[in-house]
Amino acid sequence: MRIQQVKNTTREQRVATHSHIKGLGLRDDGIADPIAAGFVGQENAREACGIVVDLIKSRKMAGRALLLAGAPGTGKTAIALAISQELGPKVPFCPMVGSEVYSSEIKKTEVLMENFRRAIGLRIKETKEVYEGEVTELTPEETENPLGGYGKTISHVIIGLKTVKGTKQLKLDPSIYESIQKEKVTVGDVIYIEANTGATKVRRGLDDSEEFIWFYGESTDYDVVRRVGRSDAYATEFDLEAEEYVPLPKGEVHKKKEIIQDVTLHDLDVANARPQGGQDIMSMMGQLLKPKKTEITDKLRKEINKVVNKYIEQGIAELVPGVLFIDEVHMLDIECFTYLNRALESSLSPIVILATNRGMCLIRGTEDVLAPHGIPIDLLDRLLIIRTLPYTVDEIKVIVSIRAKTEGLGIEDAAVDRIAQRGIETSLRFAIQLLTPASILSKINGREAIALEDVSEVDDLFFDAKKSAKVLAESESRFLM
Ligand code: ATP
Repeated sequence: MRIQQVKNTTREQRVATHSHIKGLGLRDDGIADPIAAGFVGQENAREACGIVVDLIKSRKMAGRALLLAGAPGTGKTAIALAISQELGPKVPFCPMVGSEVYSSEIKKTEVLMENFRRAIGLRIKETKEVYEGEVTELTPEETENPLGGYGKTISHVIIGLKTVKGTKQLKLDPSIYESIQKEKVTVGDVIYIEANTGATKVRRGLDDSEEFIWFYGESTDYDVVRRVGRSDAYATEFDLEAEEYVPLPKGEVHKKKEIIQDVTLHDLDVANARPQGGQDIMSMMGQLLKPKKTEITDKLRKEINKVVNKYIEQGIAELVPGVLFIDEVHMLDIECFTYLNRALESSLSPIVILATNRGMCLIRGTEDVLAPHGIPIDLLDRLLIIRTLPYTVDEIKVIVSIRAKTEGLGIEDAAVDRIAQRGIETSLRFAIQLLTPASILSKINGREAIALEDVSEVDDLFFDAKKSAKVLAESESRFLM
């Protein structure tokens, strides 16, 4: 069994809860419809953000940032996401929380820098000859009976491979089929195979001029397959009679196409720190620099910036500044604020949106400097501040219904009312969070839609912050304080 690294999905989950938000929902005259683009209420803030979007588009926000001030659960994250959507399709949105910068392993400014680079996109244009033939994936039956369906299967799966002279036919070990399927290898994919037997060498032939994989020797014991990229121009097909791979005829199936790929500077950092080879744009962009590095360092980033700037000048790439959203910005300290100030000045800066629910408070990292929102005055000077206000019960009802619909959950009106009521007593976030457990309970209870009883039951099972604090206070003596 192979041990695999567990991917951190926090950032994606953070965005996923806002999947119903499609934009600010403003009319042409900049007025907010009460319910539009998945957005409910918060009209003033949305209209103000509309103006900010105009400022950004006319490049009048350089060196400045936006601060959203309002209680938790008043839609600050949702607004920041909507701004990035208003800026255009595929504009990166990178949400983070101020406290994320505190780690025992990584410097605070390093964490900030990484997130800055996640929020800066690059659109790369390339004209490429692409294969336009049918793309077929392996069916489960084909993998179950790999050797039986061998020729048939291989012919439309592994394309872009070539055997060297002397090795007419590539015989594959059955185990390889599993990985072929796992990797969803399709026509035009270049795959990486490792051979196990001593005399055999498989070389990934993507250095210098080679654009496909070469096989040396006659091994049949290949056990690792990894997609390393696409090699459309070199698509080959397995000719059953000749028992070898022949190149697909060029012409009908090969068309010139403009390929546009969106990446972030952070993607480029990662790709260059761990170059993989391959010949799709990402892999090529991952080989911008030589010699190959293993770690993302300041030097590596500087070199990447240099190459990126060159590409921009040549018109191959276009910069797409995205949105970096820093929630609970009062958790940052003076060192981070200094960094932020400087980073805002950079020509490679994303749109920075800060959020806080604090009023006057201590600036972290100082002994006694009080400032509005815990933000130093020199940074405050650069900020446009927008307030978000608490929702009414009716607004929460609509938001709960929209969320239920987005998550594909049926819900009865009485249940919506009850959740909304809890939202007023606690917070919108708490209310929305009741949806999932309530839907699980409703299923257990054999219901199609969430009913009032399900919500009440969940509510009895879980404590909100206020209830929890109350219980604690009442039985203080039984807890360690
Ligand atoms: P904040 O950042 O102010 O804490 P948030 O945007 O993170 O607020 P949550 O408390 O996480 O909001 O909100 C819970 C859910 O309600 C999320 O799915 C969010 O997208 C949604 N939501 C919040 N405000 C609105 C709104 N005005 N219209 C529609 N959905 C909203």
